[in-house]
Formats: sequence, C-alpha cells, structure tokens
Amino acid sequence: MRKGESRKTPPRSTRSDATAPWAGRPRPPRGGTLIESLRRLTGWDDSPPLALIFDFDGTLSPIVPRPKNARLDLTLRRLLERLASRRKVSIAVVSGRSLADLRLRTGLSGAALFGNHGAEFRFPDGHESRGFARSGRESIRRAERALSQKLAGCAGLEMENKGPALSIHYRRVRRMNRAAVRREVDAVARRYAGIVETLRGKCVLELRLRGLPDKGDAVRRLLRALAPGTHPVYFGDDITDRDAFRAVRGRGWSVQVGTGRGFRSVDFTLSGPRELRRQLQQLSAFLAKRPPGGRRRVTKATAPDQEIHVESPDRGLPPPGRRTRD
Ligand SMILES: [Mg+2]
Repeated sequence: MRKGESRKTPPRSTRSDATAPWAGRPRPPRGGTLIESLRRLTGWDDSPPLALIFDFDGTLSPIVPRPKNARLDLTLRRLLERLASRRKVSIAVVSGRSLADLRLRTGLSGAALFGNHGAEFRFPDGHESRGFARSGRESIRRAERALSQKLAGCAGLEMENKGPALSIHYRRVRRMNRAAVRREVDAVARRYAGIVETLRGKCVLELRLRGLPDKGDAVRRLLRALAPGTHPVYFGDDITDRDAFRAVRGRGWSVQVGTGRGFRSVDFTLSGPRELRRQLQQLSAFLAKRPPGGRRRVTKATAPDQEIHVESPDRGLPPPGRRTRD
C-alpha cells in the first residue's frame, strides 16, 4: 500500500479474481488498493463503463480560506478531460456550489456538472436542468437580508446567495464568534422552517429550500443517464458526500478524500487532493497503454477457427448534440 492511501477491510470475495473478470462487481478485490482495484476493473476488454464522480472543494481542489479563491488547476483539469475522452470513462463533479460557479471554477469540458448538491446540472451535450422553482428564491433572499442584519460586522463571515440556497461560510470567523453565527442561522432557519432546511459542512452552513435533491440524488440522476452496468466511483470529503456514498453502495465504490473526518463505510480512503491526483495520473497512464480502439475479440462458436472483432459500444455520457431524457 502506498503512502497516503489506506483501505478498509473488503468483504470476502465469492469468486476467484485470478480466473474470472470481476469487472462490474461492486466490491474491491481482496487486498487491493484503489489504483490496483481500478486497474483490475478497467483491465479487461469487456470491462464495464466507469463513472468517476467528484466533489469539488476539499476533493478536486484543496480547501482554501476564501471559497471564492478555489480553482481547479490546469494540470488536473487536463488530466480529467483526458480521462473523460477515453472510451467508457465518464467524469462528473457534484458540488454544493451553484452550477454557474462550478462551471467557472472547473472550466471542464466533457464532464457532467451538478450544482447546488444536484438541484441543477449540465451534461456534456449542453442539456441543463434546474430542479427548483424560481419563486423559492425570494424566500432565500429574505433569509439573507435577515441574517445580514443580525450578523453585520461579524469579521470574516461570507454569505453566498446561490439561488435556491444561501451558504454562510465561517472559516475565517474567530472561533469564539462561531457559536453566535450558528445560533443566528438556526434562528432564521426556525423562522422559515416550512420553507428552508439547514445543511452543515466544513465551516459552512447552508439554508436551502426544502425538498431539493441531495448529492445522492445527483449520483442516481447521473447513473440513470449512463449505460446500465456503469461502475461509479465517488470521491468526497464532507458530510454532504455521505448521501452520494450511500447512492453508490452495492453498485460501485466510495472514496473518502482526506482523513479529517471519518466515514465508517467507505471502500477506500486517500490522504487528500494531492494523493487523488496521483492516483488519477496512474489510472490515465494505465488506460493509455491499453490497445487503441478497445476492440474485443470474440470467437464464433460455429466457426472456432475464425475470429471476428466486435467493437464494444461506447457507454460513456452522450456526445455533444444529443439530448438526454430528463
Ligand atoms: Mg467537499
């Protein structure tokens, strides 16, 4: 096992990995690290499509004191785009940020982007959708005005109106003042209890309209758009990623990025965004070594001496220009 990587104890396998492809199976093979498991998963000609799904802050991008300074750096962006361009690999980012903000900060092409924890999304074909009513925005604006009055003068506090949700970032607020921030946010949440609910993340509180999708809903929405049998791998670092971890359970793998907060049932843990990038570079290099075209050799039962080549169908996200159902 490499530095920076740890692995949870996997369940017992019921089939020998040495004699049969376990591609498509939801569990990692016994003794495998993440990159070893990914190599096993993708190393077969008829391996299942792979969906790599990432949270943004704290996962693709390190946590920074000011959320507005977070960016996807150019090297990682190119690496993700290279992966997205491969046959049978899909890339998606699921974030609490608004979709517009996420697009600006990632600059990714060829990837599905889910903003506001899945309340809005954009697929690579340009298809966009918003899962919230515009009328709800006024409630969020009222909550924002109320909090602005209550917390005026609180140094380091940043509020961000994302349309259907209001984020209150308090990472730069002095620790002695944080309890007061939480108290005021809870008071406003109680006042609008029938309309908004509260989400808690790393040094951020969020008031959001009730009934909006969570990250688990986003992952399920993505998987409905992909080919049956697609193997999802979800990478996240925060409490809100738990919904997504649950959504891939029994179908793919969950990967915790960063060790600050323990998640009991994840399949793998990486030390942080830097380790994640290293593993993605290794996966990209591994996939690049595979035969071009990814052709699958099939022998006809009726003509044992004759071999035919069958092109495996492209099972990634729909190409540009093709609309997805919604
Ligand atoms: Mg995060």
